[in-house]
Amino acid sequence: AIPMSVTVGVGRGAKAGVLVRDAAALQALSEVDTVVLDKTGTITEGKPRIADVVPSHGFDEDYLLTLAAAAERGSEHPLAAAVLTAAAERGLDVPNAEGFRSTAGRGIEAVVDGTTVLVGSERFLQERGIATHSKEAGGWSVPEEFEPHERFGATAVCVALATRSEKPGRFVGVLLIRDQVRADAAGAIHELKSLGLSVRMLTGDSKQAAVAVADSVFLDADHVTAGVSPEDKHDAVLALQAQGKRVMMVGDGVNDAPALAAADVGAAIGAGSDVAIGAADVTLVGGDVAAVARAVRLGRATMRNAK
Ligand code: ADP
Ligand code: MG
Repeated sequence: AIPMSVTVGVGRGAKAGVLVRDAAALQALSEVDTVVLDKTGTITEGKPRIADVVPSHGFDEDYLLTLAAAAERGSEHPLAAAVLTAAAERGLDVPNAEGFRSTAGRGIEAVVDGTTVLVGSERFLQERGIATHSKEAGGWSVPEEFEPHERFGATAVCVALATRSEKPGRFVGVLLIRDQVRADAAGAIHELKSLGLSVRMLTGDSKQAAVAVADSVFLDADHVTAGVSPEDKHDAVLALQAQGKRVMMVGDGVNDAPALAAADVGAAIGAGSDVAIGAADVTLVGGDVAAVARAVRLGRATMRNAK
């Protein structure tokens, strides 16, 4: 039988915005020693905005944004919303695209007027054999030009075009995207540490951007794992468990679902996608990072009372 205190614990959690799936999840919460936080949408607000549109030499700025927006229309990623909002704010006429394809944790592509438009991380383009460096890119290189911005936590999203005759494709510019760190993130992470937990960050974003955000919430750079795919996130959780850690993974996106499912406690946060919520043991309704600490404290208090 489930002890009364556990039933009370689940109810108390619900009032505090911590929806716990079952008694086993409360038990697991009480045993967590490591908390892994996704960056985008978890430590940051997940409401990114375009800060700058930077075409490569000779390419038109509005046309760059127009093509990127056309390709992103099929994506549910928060970065896609930022691109579409910026295009709308500039009053751009965004054409239809076809053949939309998404590579989780990397980027997307679609065909606009017979030309394939690729939008995603530098790594996404590099994996397709598209050079993002100075000579080919028309005078500058992604790492050199954008490192200063990424040092402030901006995400540099790269755009490339590939026509049928032209292989593998041509790099045409960068969209610099900013996402605010959640106001309560630094305080909440401090609280997690004071509960004796080891706190880590996992992200598909670049190392530079990730470390900048980590700095602003007082997370050590050596607790940051960047540039990871959804499968890598899942594997990172397994690697911690193999070291004997009891892992709570907190994330919001489809890309976090495999890691949420693998963790001892998977927690979906905020406006988490349905896929994330489906994979989670705990849902943190309010979207505040402080709810992570509330969840751990709830688990510990409930299990103490159950004894
Ligand atoms: P996180 O792990 O931080 O939540 P994701 O795994 O969703 O981030 O994405 C990792 C990186 O992949 C992004 O920083 C971006 O460079 C690229 N990316 C993914 N999806 C898209 C998209 N729809 N448009 C542009 N870039 C994308
Ligand atoms: Mg995310």
